[in-house]
Amino acid sequence: MRNNLNSDKRVRVRYAPSPTGEPHVGNIRTALFDWIIAKKFSGDFIVRVEDTDQDRKVDGAIDLQKSSLMWLGLEWDEGLGKEGQYGPYVQSERLDIYLEHVNFLISNDKAYKCFCTPERLEEVRKQQRESKSEIVGYDGFCRQKQENYSTYHVSDGCVVRFKMPQNGESTLNDLVRNQITFENRLIEDFVIIKSDGFPTYHFASVIDDHLMEISLIVRGEEWLSSLPRHIQIHQAFDWDIPDFAHIPTILAPDKTKLSKRHGATSVLEFKKEGYLPEAMINFLCLLGWSIDGEQELISIDDLIQKFNITELSPSGSVFDKNKLNWMNGQYIKRKTPSQLAKILYNFWVEFPPESFDFTPSQKDLEIIAPLISERLKTLREAEEWIAFLYKNHISYTVDDLIQKKSDIHLTNLFIEKTLNSLNGLQKFDSDSIEKHLRDLINELEVKPGMFLGTIRMATSGQKVSPPLFESLEILGRVKTINLLKQADHMIKQSINA
Ligand code: GLU
Repeated sequence: MRNNLNSDKRVRVRYAPSPTGEPHVGNIRTALFDWIIAKKFSGDFIVRVEDTDQDRKVDGAIDLQKSSLMWLGLEWDEGLGKEGQYGPYVQSERLDIYLEHVNFLISNDKAYKCFCTPERLEEVRKQQRESKSEIVGYDGFCRQKQENYSTYHVSDGCVVRFKMPQNGESTLNDLVRNQITFENRLIEDFVIIKSDGFPTYHFASVIDDHLMEISLIVRGEEWLSSLPRHIQIHQAFDWDIPDFAHIPTILAPDKTKLSKRHGATSVLEFKKEGYLPEAMINFLCLLGWSIDGEQELISIDDLIQKFNITELSPSGSVFDKNKLNWMNGQYIKRKTPSQLAKILYNFWVEFPPESFDFTPSQKDLEIIAPLISERLKTLREAEEWIAFLYKNHISYTVDDLIQKKSDIHLTNLFIEKTLNSLNGLQKFDSDSIEKHLRDLINELEVKPGMFLGTIRMATSGQKVSPPLFESLEILGRVKTINLLKQADHMIKQSINA
């Protein structure tokens, strides 16, 4: 056994999405494990589109897969627009390959054509239910007919079923779950070619995994029940069985499968909420795995070095949003001002903040970023903190200006004094602003919180804001003075009313 993998072939892993909607985090976690494993063993990461269920196909779904992988930086080697020697990588473009393989099975007495009508199948199921039969499914009616072993053509309009062995076991050493065994007799002769001539998932995926020389199949545990079928198809062709790793489902805190009713489930929604790709990767890897039970923040390089799929817990892991928020906050905090400025800038270009009347410049953001980075759990939260800097109008009431234990006259005085003091400033930078305002606080012998609270409200319309002196510097002399004048006017009107 090499590096905990059973197979010693070149490592080739595949992510095989069906284009049925926005990629769920659970699917993308599979892609992430594939990518890490390919990187770790200098192997290949293939993306194969499994679109054999034409009814469930959703336009644009492949682009969403692409955007999700690209956002997380999970670059792939073959498929999804990238040529390779094992293509095509879209199943609907491989129909002739499946046809050739199904006829090989038919001619070797391993599959047969089935002409049973849906009504007959329903009748069989009904009888099985009524007699509480241990075996539920197709009864093998067409298996007995010699003529059904003749070459299949799409124009036959029938389905093709795999001839499941009626005894023995299908067994495999799963990398996450160890030995798994199924009794063959409990599994019906399942369909491998549907009446529309398309293969079923079971058939197409086994053929492709073999022809694409996939050495390890990582997939969700919901596919576990398909395993005996897949093992038997491999054996019918006399092919080596690749490694399998069935990874646990991601659960919501209520221990049911994470779904839309629990909030965001697609990676692109997390992107929109303002999570960083590196936080997302770190978080997803820790669902059911850890380096030493303690270390939470792990760099991508370390993940590649240390991740071992055989150490993954086989039981479902809970998606703890608080932990993701904490982790994201940690990654935001670690960015340099210019890195964070660039990230925020790009984020807002893609998702323009509703409350901004104009977009911050990257240069401005370099000054603001360090002021707020400690407080952010997501990029989206930055909007609320700094919106006042990018609005044409802010709104508040006179009562908002008056701080606890203060009154309207004192508030009036704070604004008047600040106006005079800041108006005369030579240099409008945070140090000079701070010095002048602190001098005023001393002169007036008032509590700094009371004084600065009024100035903060007058210039931002917010009870909390990033550090005030730096905010005023960014706001600039003209805007600050104008805002203070407006506040002065409002108070005087109220006093004289
Ligand atoms: N097309 C399947 C899916 O979308 C892939 C299952 C597998 O990886 O074998 O879940």
